[in-house]
Amino acid sequence: MREDIDLQHYKNRLEDRLADIKKQQDSRKPHSGPVELDQGRVGRLSRMDAMQQQAMAQAAGRLMESERTRILTALDRIRSGDYGYCIICDEEIAVGRLRSDPSVLSCISCAQKSEVK
Ligand SMILES: [Zn+2]
Repeated sequence: MREDIDLQHYKNRLEDRLADIKKQQDSRKPHSGPVELDQGRVGRLSRMDAMQQQAMAQAAGRLMESERTRILTALDRIRSGDYGYCIICDEEIAVGRLRSDPSVLSCISCAQKSEVK
C-alpha cells in the first residue's frame, strides 16, 4: 500500500471517468426500431465515407472499452492495496504519471517497452 499517494483522490477520479465512459457508451448504442434516414445527408454521403465513419466510430469505441478495462483494473488494485505499483515489474509508479492518468497500470520504463499503459 502506497503511503505517499491519496488513494481516495485517485479512486474518485477513476470513478468519475468510469461514469463518463458509461454515459458515452450508452449514448452510442443504436436505437431500437428502424433508423430514420436523413435523405439529404445520405445522398451526399458516398459508401466509402459511410464505411470510413463506421470504422472510426468502431476504433473510438474500442479505445474507450480498453480505457474502461484499465480503470476497472485500477479500482480493483486500489481495493487490494496494489494500486500505484507497476503491474509488470512491481516497482512504484511515479506520482506525476498517476496524476496525469490515474488509470495507468505500469511504470514508465515498462510502458515504453510494451503496449500496456
Ligand atoms: Zn514497471
